[in-house]
Amino acid sequence: MATAAEARTLQNYAGGAWFDSGATEALDDRDPATGELTARVPLSVAADVDRAVKAARQAQPAWREVPPQERARSVLALRDALLEHRQEIAALVTADMGKTLADADGEVGRGIESVESSAAIPHLLKGETLEGVASGVDVELVRQPVGVVAAITPFNFPAMIPLWFLPYAVACGNAFVLKPSERDPRPSQRICELIDEAEIFPPGVVNLVHGGREAVESLLDHDEVDAVSFVGQAKTARLIATRSAETGKRVQALGGAKNSMIVADDADLTTSVPAIMASAFGAAGQRCLAGSVCVIAGDDDRQAEVREALRSSAEGLSTGPGADPGTDVCPMVSPEARERAETAVATAEDQGATVLLDGRIGGGEAGAMLGPTLVEVTDHESELAREEIFGPVLALVGAPDLDAAIKFANGSRYGNAGSIFTTSGAAARAYRWGIEAGMLGVNIGVPAPVAWFPFSGWKDSIDGDLHANGGDAVDFYTRKKVVTSRW
Ligand code: NAD
Repeated sequence: MATAAEARTLQNYAGGAWFDSGATEALDDRDPATGELTARVPLSVAADVDRAVKAARQAQPAWREVPPQERARSVLALRDALLEHRQEIAALVTADMGKTLADADGEVGRGIESVESSAAIPHLLKGETLEGVASGVDVELVRQPVGVVAAITPFNFPAMIPLWFLPYAVACGNAFVLKPSERDPRPSQRICELIDEAEIFPPGVVNLVHGGREAVESLLDHDEVDAVSFVGQAKTARLIATRSAETGKRVQALGGAKNSMIVADDADLTTSVPAIMASAFGAAGQRCLAGSVCVIAGDDDRQAEVREALRSSAEGLSTGPGADPGTDVCPMVSPEARERAETAVATAEDQGATVLLDGRIGGGEAGAMLGPTLVEVTDHESELAREEIFGPVLALVGAPDLDAAIKFANGSRYGNAGSIFTTSGAAARAYRWGIEAGMLGVNIGVPAPVAWFPFSGWKDSIDGDLHANGGDAVDFYTRKKVVTSRW
């Protein structure tokens, strides 16, 4: 196993050159399945951020002059590089973050779709015109890039989330600075290496700064950053949105989630239960789209039937390293994350909840393993029912009917996503009409919309107005200009 002295310290990337951070501190990046030290992550300082932002600022005017169809060709070149290195990036996601190889491959695939969707930029950037608003007077709306944009991304999708922002930002004519999660930055590092090796964008169009809070604060305080895309916990999202507003930056800050999956009393359990398992326990529950509460609608007998179907299915899942093809439930990102999830389960138990399936297995080889855990919660306002645990812990809540189930789901301060399982079109329609969340599934686990649609939630799951991907991304990364002319 590498020692701290032997492990590679990651470099920052600005203006087309790799450089050592001026940081005096670095964090260990460890494989959560084995505990192996894979890299050292510098906690970059303000001077590092300044170098990256200045490189972006310098590159942006010329990049804006590149015709949109040529910028589209550049993002397609990035797509080709990602396709060629898909397995390699997926393996880095598994080694850094812990998720299974199949899940990591799906993540990289979703990132590639985001890149592909941004290649439609010549169409997406088209403006509007209205002729003859007065005699001989016409009005046209054009979209122009905002300038330098920064993205600050979380640990749970270390390849896909940077790829939500990077391609749309640069396709719109902006220059880009990425600050990936300090817990698993190697997929971002590799993506930037591919960009560098194939010279996909002119130097300075894409830049990378590793680090944590100090690097983020330096980005937020930097005069030459015009817009900030953020994804992470709700409390961090609020900090980022507040500080961005104070320093006059455009911001989209996507936060946490507590997604309910409603099992209506007419749902087909044969198809619903596997979908619920995948939503609750995939990536060890570390998704903003994790289904972390299952709301079981119906009378007592029906509730008992569904609880037992879920328990027996969860019991059959195998917990292990993400690199093992037989694994259903991967390790959590770190021993500390596992401890936090276990504490939440113990607290719920102390408060009267019943643990139907206990995944507490002592953390496994590297201390980050927690098996699938099912907790029947009677206090509907308890932490387990309402707060994000971000682990393989599924809270079960009973509701007498669909109305009560929807009311419970809407009682959340979050509104990211959710699902309903039902054989009734009317129930599905009532759900779609009434639920307060941004991304819904009907007879499908909590879904990630494909990249041609906006991605995000409502309520405390976002600070800001515009979502990631799709038309929202173009709105976020461009400023509108309206010209009224008489000739
Ligand atoms: P996090 O908030 O801890 O970190 C996210 C980023 O913010 C990282 O780059 C980190 O370095 C930085 N950061 C953290 N604390 C900071 C502070 N005090 N000041 C400045 N910067 C700070 O989030 P995480 O634990 O890496 O990610 C998991 C969270 O992300 C979960 O809550 C999950 O629901 C959420 N998430 C949301 C979505 C969505 O679309 N809404 C998608 C994925 C993940």
